[in-house]
Amino acid sequence: MEKKIVTSCTRDCPDCCGIIATVKNGKIVSHRANPSNSYTRNFLCTKGNNYLKRFYSPERLLKPMIRKDGDFEPVSWDDALDLIAEKLTQTRKEYGPLSSLWAQYSGSLSFLNILMPRIFWIYLGGSTINTGGLSVDALQAAQNNDFGACLLHSPDDLLNSKNIVFWGKNPAVTNVHLSPFIKKAKKNGARITVVDPRYSQTTQIADRHIALAPGGDGYLAIAVAREVRRRQGKEPDFVRSLGTGWDEYKAMLDRYDDQDLFKRADVTADEVSHLASVYWDDQPAATYLGLGMNWYKQGGAHSRLIHSLIFFSGNVGVPGGGANFFIMGLPFDTKIMREEMAKAKERGVELVKPRRILNPYLAREIEKAENPPIKLAWVSMMNPVASAPDSQHLTKVLQNLDFVIVTEQFMTATARCADVVLPVTTYLEEDDVIASHGHPYVGPVNAVVPPLGEARSNLWIFSKVLDRMGLEGAMPVSPWEWISRSFGSLNEQGITLEDVKKGPVRRNLPDIPYQDGKFPTPDGKFQFIPDYEGRPEPEAGLTLLMVKVRSLLNSQLLSEEAKSIPTVYLNPGTMGDLGVVEGERVWVQNKLDRLEALAAASDKTRPDIVEMVPCHWKDDQGGVNRLREAIASDLGPTTAFNETRVTIHKHVD
Ligand code: SF4
Repeated sequence: MEKKIVTSCTRDCPDCCGIIATVKNGKIVSHRANPSNSYTRNFLCTKGNNYLKRFYSPERLLKPMIRKDGDFEPVSWDDALDLIAEKLTQTRKEYGPLSSLWAQYSGSLSFLNILMPRIFWIYLGGSTINTGGLSVDALQAAQNNDFGACLLHSPDDLLNSKNIVFWGKNPAVTNVHLSPFIKKAKKNGARITVVDPRYSQTTQIADRHIALAPGGDGYLAIAVAREVRRRQGKEPDFVRSLGTGWDEYKAMLDRYDDQDLFKRADVTADEVSHLASVYWDDQPAATYLGLGMNWYKQGGAHSRLIHSLIFFSGNVGVPGGGANFFIMGLPFDTKIMREEMAKAKERGVELVKPRRILNPYLAREIEKAENPPIKLAWVSMMNPVASAPDSQHLTKVLQNLDFVIVTEQFMTATARCADVVLPVTTYLEEDDVIASHGHPYVGPVNAVVPPLGEARSNLWIFSKVLDRMGLEGAMPVSPWEWISRSFGSLNEQGITLEDVKKGPVRRNLPDIPYQDGKFPTPDGKFQFIPDYEGRPEPEAGLTLLMVKVRSLLNSQLLSEEAKSIPTVYLNPGTMGDLGVVEGERVWVQNKLDRLEALAAASDKTRPDIVEMVPCHWKDDQGGVNRLREAIASDLGPTTAFNETRVTIHKHVD
């Protein structure tokens, strides 16, 4: 018998696709787009199209495992959970709650996978948690500061745009469902400009590519702002009535010199003039800000400089405009946390404030934590050895802890550092809901089939651990109950859980944010960046840019997809200078480590950059992050991945 089940993809992706899964004789035979989500329409990305291969992969972890004498051995759930409860109890008794680290990131963005860990640790009296990011954090902090929120224009609004700018963003790979809207807008006459040191897949459809120097974004934004001011002639009224800090911003613009800015950003006067036309002469311009320009030490300042340019040129709060990033912030009611805190107190739990350690410095922060030291780590929805910087160091730090628990679907680089590995379910085996950060839909996550093997949900795992720690029944395994308790704020928008279970439902969000001139900042106005100190000259070497690819979601790959040796893309001139030929083995190295790679010439690659897929080869799941130093951005913070400098050497040994 065949049945179709409506669900949603919960992976770390703004598209948050509506899915229809078909089950035949207990097996999922198809995983397709749900066209009732007008953003997903009728297609999935490469990763979505291949998802069943991952789901049914023989490499999936389907049994708990405990390390014994250096190797993993399958064990029963009872044995694994008893050991975890014992280690948690013992560590916390000896060193206090903050000696346990809960490390989570974006492996699943569904609501319960975000909420339930918080409640679990409330019942254990608190923990150390990881914060800051590996992704959007500088840009997100800048948006919250300048606009008071992170909101997006409706994609249909692109039809009102005369120009569209992708600044450090490559939606052809990272936000594929924006593509039909972009194509329609282009047909409608909109011009596309890509600002990116890389020639990305989005550049292929652009009318103009401004391949600025890596990290030159702030200088370029200032140069364009200076040119827009000259073209404006007189000061627009709204910069004072709707904005705060115009005078400081203007004074900062005046301090710079055009020729110096062109040189530092490595752009021409004509490129600056083009962007000034985009933002002023031929507006409205919609800007999509991406992670590329936020992965620098000055990532927050870059974002704020671009925001200020977009605002004072008159492209905020107007149809066809916008400083588009993502919709951040859960639309769910989190008063449930307070309710559970009260219940935990009734059970005698003494709750301490969580201690936060920063993702960009994860290895160092775990190592140097004192009073108490970190003794135990539980890592979930995250593979930091592959996705965080300084990965060799992190491997050693995790291996040196007293006890490490990893909940995973595959034996990742991080799972290899664990004492216990717990097989966790995928979204096709879970009941949950998800709110997209890339569009206004809330989608259902309906279990399509029962969990494969002995995989279990995070909720089930937490519930069983608490049961073993004298907190029986604190966390019932009833996902819909937890969700319905959190649905109040959506109910207020007329959205019911019953509706969402049936298929994606559109949230009530503005099509054109800030059209009323009101910003949810403390003074109700847009906040100009008051100053920009600039960027020190980079160290010698080439910039190893962070790259995303169509087939791979962050570090999630199957070993059959991994190559034996990665490829490093270099400008032909760089190869000539080094005496390296196409396909030659080279070392990509810096003070942290060196990686072997095959050189490939790409005339689209700037001579000062190096491009490598982050994690795409066998036997080295740490990937390029072995070369990435732990450096944080100014706001957020996020990891300044694009500050990584490397040199290329001929393979002589
Ligand atoms: S990864 Fe993104 S685009 Fe691909 S299926 Fe999932 S939500 Fe859709």
